[in-house]
Amino acid sequence: MEEKDTLRVIIAGAGIAGLSAAIALERVSAVPNLNIQLYEQAPELLEIGASIAISPNGMRTLEKLGVHEALTDEVGYRGPSGIPQIFRHWKTDRVVSVDNHTDVPDPRHHTTRFHRGHLHSTLLKHVPAQSIHLNKKVVRAEIRQDGVSLLFEDGNSAHGDILIGADGIRSKVRQSFIPDYKLRFTGKVFMRATFDASLVEGKIPDLPADSMHWWGPKDNFFASRLGKGQYTTVGAYDDPRTTEELERNIFWGQRGNVDFLRERYKDWNPTIRALTQLTPYTNLYPNFAGDALPTWVFGSRATLIGDAAHAHGGAFAAGGSLALDDALALGLAFKHAFNPSSTRPSFAVENIVKALKLYGKTRQPHAARLLRIVHNQIGQRPRVDITAEEEDAALVAKMKSRPNTAWLSEHDVEAAFAATVEQLEAEDAIEESQSLGNTKLGETPGQVIELKGSKI
Ligand SMILES: Cc1cc2nc3c(=O)[nH]c(=O)nc-3n(C[C@H](O)[C@H](O)[C@H](O)COP(=O)(O)OP(=O)(O)OC[C@H]3O[C@@H](n4cnc5c(N)ncnc54)[C@H](O)[C@@H]3O)c2cc1C
Repeated sequence: MEEKDTLRVIIAGAGIAGLSAAIALERVSAVPNLNIQLYEQAPELLEIGASIAISPNGMRTLEKLGVHEALTDEVGYRGPSGIPQIFRHWKTDRVVSVDNHTDVPDPRHHTTRFHRGHLHSTLLKHVPAQSIHLNKKVVRAEIRQDGVSLLFEDGNSAHGDILIGADGIRSKVRQSFIPDYKLRFTGKVFMRATFDASLVEGKIPDLPADSMHWWGPKDNFFASRLGKGQYTTVGAYDDPRTTEELERNIFWGQRGNVDFLRERYKDWNPTIRALTQLTPYTNLYPNFAGDALPTWVFGSRATLIGDAAHAHGGAFAAGGSLALDDALALGLAFKHAFNPSSTRPSFAVENIVKALKLYGKTRQPHAARLLRIVHNQIGQRPRVDITAEEEDAALVAKMKSRPNTAWLSEHDVEAAFAATVEQLEAEDAIEESQSLGNTKLGETPGQVIELKGSKI
């Protein structure tokens, strides 16, 4: 096959994962002659969504991607205590437990809360506008021996050498390669709102300046200031409906009924009651999750990134940070496989496979670990056959015994990548020495196959 001078990378989706992948391939890989094009279904890129948390791993990655504005106090918000998560009792308001950063010396890397739209538009400034094609809804992806294609709803298509599916939790790219992949409703619906902080600040006595997570026996409630003077409230409740019923009745981001939020939390402590009264609206986000993928490399030329690769349903508020780390790993993998310092990097298919394999092997085990936790939690319902005192004791015990998630929130993706490189190089060396040994035995590679065959 003739080797090309330019490597055409087509990315489905221009969300957090798609944009950060484009930035990482440009800046981290530094591979020359990459032609990166993004295809996004939205007709315009609006500041949509609600709050999104980025933990230290994601904040460090934003810095490595050169998105320095995201680390300032202008775009995101870090509370005064420096504690990333504070958990309070729903009724007494007492702090029951906290998560602490374990090794995050730079305060700019502390867990930061953004409006998703602000983080998205910050990333957008780092991607050339002419490389983003709007109104391009992917309906199918295809891989051939010599390239990849995205087919759009409008009947047009785009072609490239590598395909990155960054089209979110309901990825059409993933569906093209794993048609029977299913998402399951986790049983939780989130009621989210973002609004001007002046609606609540100064209006509620003792409103904490730090982000707060109140836990009740079934529901929980989150409230935080965000960057750019915004504030968020998030109520999460159990919904007993099945996946099919949920899909028929609630779509992602649908406007909810704010009176339902107020009613749901009417017996909680006065701060929460006041927050729900002042919350002007809610949007509903039913939570779905899917299994870990069997592979992250499809047909030697395609991969997935972000929620498309790990449908973890927003658990541990890790989605944004995972997407950023995926992007950094992809950039490092391109750098390693295509050797940008050579005068003419080789875009041969074996190097494409090498890049995607390095990326997948770095990220797949990490995502699988998270998905195991998520799936273990689905369907766990609080006991109903206990007294109020027992229920409260169980709640407090659960809050205090939350697992340490520093492996997730402080994950070092560069170290994971270096370990993958080492592991794959060791495996290659063993394979090479085995094949050399076999060659000696049989003298020519052709005879090796015969020798092996005769053994079987
Ligand atoms: C509108 C929206 C609001 C969100 N709000 C929140 C929030 O408030 N809090 C939170 O924690 N997380 C939110 N998320 C999810 C969060 O952004 C992700 O978990 C995380 O950032 C990983 O990003 P991602 O790029 O993989 O996925 P996403 O952020 O979902 O981005 C996927 C992108 O692909 C595009 N896309 C999807 N299907 C197609 C298609 N067929 N063809 C072309 N393009 C396609 C989408 O329009 C989107 O731009 C939201 C996602 C979206 C899309």
